[in-house]
Amino acid sequence: MSQVPSVGRIVHYVSYGTPGGEYPSVCRAAIVTELTGDPDHPDQVGLAVLNPEGMFFNRAVNYHDGAETSGDPDCPSKESHGAPFRYCGCGWMEASHRGGTWHWPERV
Ligand SMILES: [Zn+2]
Ligand SMILES: [Zn+2]
Repeated sequence: MSQVPSVGRIVHYVSYGTPGGEYPSVCRAAIVTELTGDPDHPDQVGLAVLNPEGMFFNRAVNYHDGAETSGDPDCPSKESHGAPFRYCGCGWMEASHRGGTWHWPERV
């Protein structure tokens, strides 16, 4: 990660979608309220999340850049990664923003 978060910056918080997909996981605007200073999670922050229905506070949100998670390189169903699989028993997961994490706003 090239940028370091600081208090007062606006970032995106990824809301949790419902497992059935009735509500998709979406990006919400959030303001950094604190740096938790956790040595194991240097990019963990506290956020004030601005939802259209209201605001909520979350004190330990981890960064996730949305990149694909690489699985076992010897996975026997490697060619199914991405099509049709969205995740695999070997640990591979398609690129997506994970619910409950933050990232820098996408450039549009
Ligand atoms: Zn976003
Ligand atoms: Zn796999």
